[in-house]
Amino acid sequence: MRLLPLLLAIAWAASPLNAQSNAERMSNDRYTRSHDYDLIHQRIEVSRFNWDSTSFDGRVTTTLVALRPGLDSVILDAGAKLQITSTLRTSRHGDTLVVFLPKPIAFGDTARFTVTYHGVVTSGKGLTFISPEGRPHRPRQIWSQGEDHDNHYWFPTYDFPNDKMTWELVATVPKGMTAVSNGRLGSVVTAKDSSRTFTWLQDKPSATYLVSIVVAPLAKVHDTWRGIPVDYYVYHEDSALARPLFQFTPDMIESYSRLTGVNYPWAKYAQTTVADFFGGMENVSATTLVDWLPSARDYQDRPWYLWILIPHELSHQWFGDYVTTENWANMWLNEGFAEFMPGQYWAHKLGGGGGARAEEDYYLDEYDQFMQIDRERRMPLASLGSNNIYPKGALVLQMLKQYLGEQRFWASVNRYLKAHAFENATTDDMRQAVLEATGENLDWFWDQWIYQAGYPEFSVTTKYDSSTATLTLAVQQVQQDSLKADSTGLRYTTPAAFRMPVSLRVGTAAGDVTMRAQLSRRQDTILVRDVKSAPTMVVFDAGNAILKQLSFDQPTAWLATQLQRDANLWNRHWVIAQLSQRSKDAAAGAALAQAATSADYFRIRVAAVAALAEFPRTVALPALQGAVTDTSAQVRAAAVEALGSVGGPEAAALARQAWTRDSSAAVRAAAVIALALTDSADRRALVLQALQTPSYRDAIQNGAYRVIAQTGDTSLVDTVEARAGQDHFAVHVLAALGARGNARALDLLVRHLDDERTQVRRWALEAFRYSLPRPLAQPKLQAVSAALKFADTKEAVAELLRDWQTGS
Ligand SMILES: [Zn+2]
Repeated sequence: MRLLPLLLAIAWAASPLNAQSNAERMSNDRYTRSHDYDLIHQRIEVSRFNWDSTSFDGRVTTTLVALRPGLDSVILDAGAKLQITSTLRTSRHGDTLVVFLPKPIAFGDTARFTVTYHGVVTSGKGLTFISPEGRPHRPRQIWSQGEDHDNHYWFPTYDFPNDKMTWELVATVPKGMTAVSNGRLGSVVTAKDSSRTFTWLQDKPSATYLVSIVVAPLAKVHDTWRGIPVDYYVYHEDSALARPLFQFTPDMIESYSRLTGVNYPWAKYAQTTVADFFGGMENVSATTLVDWLPSARDYQDRPWYLWILIPHELSHQWFGDYVTTENWANMWLNEGFAEFMPGQYWAHKLGGGGGARAEEDYYLDEYDQFMQIDRERRMPLASLGSNNIYPKGALVLQMLKQYLGEQRFWASVNRYLKAHAFENATTDDMRQAVLEATGENLDWFWDQWIYQAGYPEFSVTTKYDSSTATLTLAVQQVQQDSLKADSTGLRYTTPAAFRMPVSLRVGTAAGDVTMRAQLSRRQDTILVRDVKSAPTMVVFDAGNAILKQLSFDQPTAWLATQLQRDANLWNRHWVIAQLSQRSKDAAAGAALAQAATSADYFRIRVAAVAALAEFPRTVALPALQGAVTDTSAQVRAAAVEALGSVGGPEAAALARQAWTRDSSAAVRAAAVIALALTDSADRRALVLQALQTPSYRDAIQNGAYRVIAQTGDTSLVDTVEARAGQDHFAVHVLAALGARGNARALDLLVRHLDDERTQVRRWALEAFRYSLPRPLAQPKLQAVSAALKFADTKEAVAELLRDWQTGS
């Protein structure tokens, strides 16, 4: 699963509290659910979908094997709103269905039974019914979402990852619609009324949360990988956009098959786009994705969709679907690998130095995300509800790869996948696979990086002694273990000292001196010998092989040298961050100005340009003038944004040029913000114009919304309100203006809780939850909750108020 970046931030903020004792941290097996049968196969038949009543008919035939003697009843998960109509004797307890077998069966015997039901979905859980509601690009459709445990809201099953099965999905859908599901397509039968019945067969076992269905009017764009169908299902109006976006898929499948040594394991790969999706979901062999297809000119802004979403979901076909976490406390095995693999794809796709930079670039984003999450709450990777399984998972795997080297790393991954093929795994299974493949027991690595929390914070100082030609580095680990125990007395820990090898590179007039040292204590001293002349630069952790924070005060000349000579992206980024704090230092400004216009990789130019915003106009402006014509749209966007901070008539003129002429939506969005800062007289007209300018993912409108929210311009409330039915940010801007004290914006927002359009109701609720301070939101919601007319909002408001009362 991959959430949109905005939603990720929301999910982290909302992640539940969990605790894990130190004694148990080597085994989180206790989070695995018990049951007394082995699910073998389900035939899931669904039909008579009704968009008005959000209901359908279901019939599920389950085959299972008893795992205890005298099994006389089977406990399944089944949403309380599935109305069971079968003739079998059953009983209900909330979301649990007990099916009584006609006679008890012996240990190891097989039972097969059928449950028929009428399903209603009002909670938005399990199945989502979507109607056009007057919005463009939004055909009537249905999509399912199983992970973590929502599939039982649309069919009775064992809804936990530790019991795999095979399945058939038989869906009868209205004329003109297609049903996409898992495995291979068995048949499509058209009835007299032109409805069609699709039979899909998933004949290799996988987890029940990966069962999926999409029903929509869809065009199929066909590709193949080694003869296996690779299909892209999109709305008919998007069919020309599908191939440019998805065309990399067969190459990605090839790359992942080669890297892991495990060929793509499923009968086909489908990617299906749907409306109002939260991002992407790796349903086995049938990934579901949000319907945001970029057009040709949007590729210059490096769409997240291609850079992360497609390769992330694809890698789950190995990590998550082929080998599945045994319980949700080990979920990083799914998400950490899926977040790690796209960086590997881009490295191999681009190759050489470009590939290495792209790889470092990818993990630099993960690093920034991880640091932000860790600041909010520090948790271990392998813990239930961990908030960092995506970025820290990716970073720890990258670190493991650097520690083991490519060959030993991929041999370990191969071992892990093959040992648990079509089965489940825990975190320790991965450690065991490394041990078997390389002979190295990495218990210390697992302990400090996976079962404990945090990372090393290094504080480094140096002393050079010319008489002994020795550079001495004093390396301190200053991270604090300040995590608090929860109410049960359990608490996570941060190691006092991380143990890792580190590479050093010392520049001198006579050439570089390199060495490797072992860090293992809170205070380590490293002597670098044969440094025959004074250092011109000192690189601590050359190659950035350690996930860390680094405090290392250096002369500007060293930093400037490293910025020119160190290829590694994280290291150069760190150097730029140091230089950015020396805005009165001409040498620092010169080093940044040079990097801004001539560094070999665009990401470095972006960082240098952003740093220049803090420098005197005379230093910054010449470099920014060059950067606004960079070949990279990201550099141009950063330059235009920096112009907003630099200010003055020249900056305003350059920003206006970017607004009128640039081909990139990201650059134009930056121009809206920069112009609002540099030219306040013209701000209102510009914001109105920007709101009328269509762009991919509304990038330009969002620039305008940011200006409105940040300036608090209440004269635009009606303009924002007019767009509330179209887009989700408009609703959040109403909340932002409401939070600033505008009563009318707040009233409009309250009214949208009862909007006729389902999606607008959801947006309004989301804005109440995330964009308004609770002291403002809570009384408003309490006041209106009884009078709300739509059941879904009513339920959701009640749930939110309950959450707030219980303090989550
Ligand atoms: Zn994922």
